[in-house]
Amino acid sequence: MRGLPTGIFKSLRIAFKNLFRPNMVIQYPKQRAIIPERARWAVEIKPAQDGSHRCQACRICEGACPHHCIKLDITTAEDRSKHIDHWWFDRGSCMMCGLCVEACPFDAIRMGHDYELAHADPALLVLDLLPDTPAYVRPKPARPVDPNAGDTDA
Ligand code: SF4
Ligand code: SF4
Repeated sequence: MRGLPTGIFKSLRIAFKNLFRPNMVIQYPKQRAIIPERARWAVEIKPAQDGSHRCQACRICEGACPHHCIKLDITTAEDRSKHIDHWWFDRGSCMMCGLCVEACPFDAIRMGHDYELAHADPALLVLDLLPDTPAYVRPKPARPVDPNAGDTDA
């Protein structure tokens, strides 16, 4: 059938097929996407079981971030205890690579699942995740007691 616009029939065939396919889109914001378990969005402080944090202010995450999105302001007291004044996180610059989470030796941070992160004002994308907080101090394990300690046998 020379001369007929075959492209029209092709597109009609595709349109007809798609009538019977399941929807590929959701009606956001009435419907919400199901986020895969391993999806990565912004960095957040991982709460411990008791609701506290486990950040020991070691700054390893700061050095691990290739985009310099993390900056900790820390005060060290005379007894060498640390206090986190600010735990700055620039969400606008974060590329959500997860390198900081992998680098943290204390499992103190994680990649969040909240994907509604946009803001009209870029200044609101810089967050203080741990404002004015003492750094976590890991309790020292108790020393084993020597049962023979104190024996005075000659
Ligand atoms: S989040 Fe982890 S790596 Fe970063 S300062 Fe705290 S303990 Fe160190
Ligand atoms: S996820 Fe990547 S870019 Fe974002 S703060 Fe961590 S290391 Fe930096």
